[in-house]
Amino acid sequence: MSLRIGEWVVSSSSRAPRALVLELTTSCNLSCAHCFRRAVGIEGRHAPLDMVELVAEQCRELGIERVTLSGWGEPTTYPRFLDAVWMLRDAGVEVAVNTNGIALARIASELVEARVSEVILSVDAFSPETYSAIRGARLEAVEEGLDQLRNERESRGCRRPRVVTHFVVTRLNVGELRNFPEFAKRFAVSKLEISHLVPLNRFMERELACFSDPSCIEELERVSSEISKYMFSHYYEITIPRSRPSVERRCPYAAKQAAFVRVDGAVAPCIFYAHPSTHSFNFVERRVNPVIFGRVDEGLDRVWTKPSYIEFRARAALSIMPSCLDCHLAPYCEPTRSNEKDCWGNSPTCSHCPYSHRLATCPL
Ligand code: SF4
Ligand code: SF4
Ligand code: SF4
Repeated sequence: MSLRIGEWVVSSSSRAPRALVLELTTSCNLSCAHCFRRAVGIEGRHAPLDMVELVAEQCRELGIERVTLSGWGEPTTYPRFLDAVWMLRDAGVEVAVNTNGIALARIASELVEARVSEVILSVDAFSPETYSAIRGARLEAVEEGLDQLRNERESRGCRRPRVVTHFVVTRLNVGELRNFPEFAKRFAVSKLEISHLVPLNRFMERELACFSDPSCIEELERVSSEISKYMFSHYYEITIPRSRPSVERRCPYAAKQAAFVRVDGAVAPCIFYAHPSTHSFNFVERRVNPVIFGRVDEGLDRVWTKPSYIEFRARAALSIMPSCLDCHLAPYCEPTRSNEKDCWGNSPTCSHCPYSHRLATCPL
């Protein structure tokens, strides 16, 4: 299958994804104020264990290198979470876990034993008061887990898993970033990844989003420049989101040749297009309908090489689509109200994806 663009013919030699994001569950042990999962009414359910086995088998057969346990729920609430980790590790796969950290103390020892490569910790504050205001939980529980993880690593002389902090910046917590260097030092965190919030509606964009408030953007620039100096000189990594759409776009999933496996075995191109949702940018609300190319039980290689998926990936990888987030017609444009189609005739389309503009980042 190839894609013709004028005189150019683009083809892919990729037979299977190199990376997966696997959704073990859509349930969670927290109830955060800004939770997208609850707001769009996603019900809590767990993936059948035989589906996880099938994914692990296919990873072995197809040489899939990395699986990130993440999705629209908290993976550690999956009743067979550690079995799932071991199945994937036994299949020779690098495993990363994206977690809110509440259950980390209980599983830290086994994560080290299984040589999990990364714990991606979603945390929105480094002071107990702000953390509990946002998440309705105790930061101490997360800190205990991080302590436990560091102790386990040290006692076994292991460098893995490294800890990456994923921080969704809003007007409520932008100042909290100043406390990150202290947090990183205390818990041996290697990297800070900052993302803007993807607001579900105009209200969230007006009240919470940092990118729609010039003073918050200024504060984000100030604080990230302050902490970057410290972090670079102490060999920490940091990624800072853009606060405005830009000409350069890059689909993070296409760039890493990654696919998303939903809790029910459906295969989506990314986390953003896995479940129905809504989002708002420049106060234009849009509906996201799930984009599904097949199911795990068809074989991930078969799904990956379907012409429709190859064409979709090529367009996402090369940004062969219009850009709605900085289009002055967006407030009047009907196609931009959903991901069903765009003004160039692409269907479905990624033309208003905040991840490709690097406004938001997704752990994968
Ligand atoms: S940890 Fe994530 S999934 Fe769970 S309630 Fe909070 S925002 Fe929602
Ligand atoms: S461009 Fe965005 S919406 Fe499209 S596949 Fe990539 S991450 Fe998903
Ligand atoms: S679909 Fe086209 S006209 Fe409409 S907002 Fe997007 S880029 Fe602009």
